[in-house]
Amino acid sequence: MNDSIDNIFNSLTAEEKATLSGGKDFWHLQGIERLGLPSILVTDGPHGVRKQNMEFEHIGLSDSVPSTCFPTASGLAATWNTKLIEKVGEALGEECLAVQVSVLLGPGANLKRHPLGGRNFEYLSEDPLLTGILASAWIKGIQSKNVGVSLKHYAMNNHERGRMVANVIADERAVRELYLPAFERCVKEADPWTIMAAYNKFRGIHCAENEYLLKTILRDEWGYTGVVMSDWGANHRRVDGIKNGQSLEMPGSGQANIKKIMAALNSGDLTIEQLDESVRPVVELIVKSANALDESATVDYEANHDFARTVAEEATVLLKNDNSLLPLASSMNVLVVGGLAADTRYQGAGSSQIMPTKLEHPLEEITKLSDDAANVTYAEGYSVSGKSDAALATSALQQAEKADRIILFVGLTPEAESEGFDRTHMQLPANQLELIDALKPVLHKTVVVLQNGAPIELPFRESAGAMVEAYLGGQAGASALARILYGEVNPSGKLAETFADVLSDVPSDRWYPGEYRQTEYRESIWVGYRYFDTADKPVAYPFGHGLSYTSFEYSDLTITQPTSPFDKDSAIIVNFTLTNTGDRAGAEVAQLYVGQTNPSVPRPLKELKGYDKVYLEPGDARSRPRARDRAGHQAARHRGEPGAQAGHGGRAHARLIA
Ligand code: BGC
Repeated sequence: MNDSIDNIFNSLTAEEKATLSGGKDFWHLQGIERLGLPSILVTDGPHGVRKQNMEFEHIGLSDSVPSTCFPTASGLAATWNTKLIEKVGEALGEECLAVQVSVLLGPGANLKRHPLGGRNFEYLSEDPLLTGILASAWIKGIQSKNVGVSLKHYAMNNHERGRMVANVIADERAVRELYLPAFERCVKEADPWTIMAAYNKFRGIHCAENEYLLKTILRDEWGYTGVVMSDWGANHRRVDGIKNGQSLEMPGSGQANIKKIMAALNSGDLTIEQLDESVRPVVELIVKSANALDESATVDYEANHDFARTVAEEATVLLKNDNSLLPLASSMNVLVVGGLAADTRYQGAGSSQIMPTKLEHPLEEITKLSDDAANVTYAEGYSVSGKSDAALATSALQQAEKADRIILFVGLTPEAESEGFDRTHMQLPANQLELIDALKPVLHKTVVVLQNGAPIELPFRESAGAMVEAYLGGQAGASALARILYGEVNPSGKLAETFADVLSDVPSDRWYPGEYRQTEYRESIWVGYRYFDTADKPVAYPFGHGLSYTSFEYSDLTITQPTSPFDKDSAIIVNFTLTNTGDRAGAEVAQLYVGQTNPSVPRPLKELKGYDKVYLEPGDARSRPRARDRAGHQAARHRGEPGAQAGHGGRAHARLIA
């Protein structure tokens, strides 16, 4: 668009401004034809592009235009690979441009407060630093293609039950130390074009009109100047929203709120300056987006499918590997068990549901990597529908006795995990647990593969020989997994959330989710590892955990003290050497945690302050060039984030800045 934003804005009538402050329909913003302002399109994501064929339906039931389905956020976070997530963002940005989408609704930067939160699969981590760094990278990637994001759901939207009415009460430390820092980092480092105000109330006021969240913190403290849009139908008092810095109501309420805005202007309840301040970012967004739209934009979906595989490989976490059960030899007799192996779960249900460009299934991909297709047999074991069937389990056990290895797929089905509701327990579906019980005699030679978007209780973990957390791995997750099982890829994922032993160990569980209309975050800052480490409470698998087929050694730790503790620019430099001491190439995530001795207020024993993913070849000279060449294996170096560089003689010398 050639006309300047000032010219366009100054030509708008008050009614046109009121019109622009609400959507035109479910997915379009209003345009103003006489000024050449087009009506731009926003769509859901965020691990793919969900541009629907049918308008006015947003719960994922009708088909959308095919798009590459990457692993959902739980898996993306398990990569701990900042550069890789930025590249995912770039791929998504290109896919948006190819279908004329101007804003992709996501990513979500809400913290995983409790394992049963229905949308945990859409969120990154229980740690605000990791969430903030990865969400910022995701945003930067998308926006580098001149496509906007909508960072969501701001804020304290950590469960689904009663999500439109629930009032969240949280103390200031929890808010400032846990729930807001990821949003703050995204605002300050990645400048999201839009932010989505959540459905819930915070301290008695809906987020879409909450003065404290929108005005005091987001606009005034953090200096955010972009568009704050409502979640779909999250508006209640539109005029209050405008006064407090909310720019855009989605999907828009037709004439109803336009009339209210005009009446408020006429009565003096709302000033034109307040309306201007709130609407100007919408005009800026439309102009920016219109300039980026390109009818001839195309995308290489085949290349993105392969890239989705790379991402899924890095997202896979090897939880346990007794007696080096993995990797499999291609000559082995392998029995694949479980309905999810043939009918894979690869993404979550709800508004983020993507129509993939193609879809792989684990059974097929495992068979492809075996020397001989006859080496791989299959037993359903349980029905994905959840129906109990003892005969399926008995038959699986009979076949299992003859196999060298059993690869058992279990996980959460869409009925158990989706947007719109929270899980009611942390267990696997009962018919899957029945199967595991039946397979007891062969569990020592069994690799349990988990397909789920959030932690589950693993009562069988002592008996299972090996366990792999595959998360919801996206459309190419199956071949990624097969490559890991057969050792073509060395696993390097690490958990971005704690797997508690049992649900009752989770501190917030005692008051979760609370009354229908009131949720109290009484656990305050004691969420995830911050609680488990401090209370010295054992867990099934801790935050940051993940094994490899090679081994790593840390040595030569030095800590350089700041020149002056009062100099805010002086960093503490932590140096150490990381060596790949095994015989396979692999990547390790070095994690730096900091704690305080004798703190003046209760503080977690330790908190994540930096990390870096470092790829290392085994042995000497080979590590150096590859460590640099492998795009995506080295985390980006930018402010507030640790850097790492390849060193000499097969070693990587990491320099983490706390
Ligand atoms: C969800 C948002 C989504 C929007 C549009 C809402 O119900 O909470 O995450 O972007 O719908 O589909």
